[in-house]
Amino acid sequence: MELTAKPGSTIKNKTGGWRTFVPKTDYKKCIGCGMCAKVCPESAITMISDKTKATGQKPKTNYDYCKGCGLCAAECPAKCIKMELEEK
Ligand code: SF4
Ligand code: SF4
Repeated sequence: MELTAKPGSTIKNKTGGWRTFVPKTDYKKCIGCGMCAKVCPESAITMISDKTKATGQKPKTNYDYCKGCGLCAAECPAKCIKMELEEK
């Protein structure tokens, strides 16, 4: 079987250019649960330290890899991620 990409090369495939819609997070409503980071198929979301949240963390999105699939917005329990049409 031929492979279309070499194993371990995901980091080189920046999928941000595929995006039509972009997720925008309302950090005031975010409860820092980390669900968005768990469901993101591109691992574009990482949780970073935020002492103002009860969980001590908040999400940070790397837009080089976010392909705009909307899974994070669909699964966010606080409904604080909105998908917006990206201006290019
Ligand atoms: S829209 Fe999709 S690819 Fe982008 S951060 Fe959300 S889950 Fe990840
Ligand atoms: S899923 Fe929603 S509430 Fe949870 S960390 Fe992500 S943005 Fe915040």
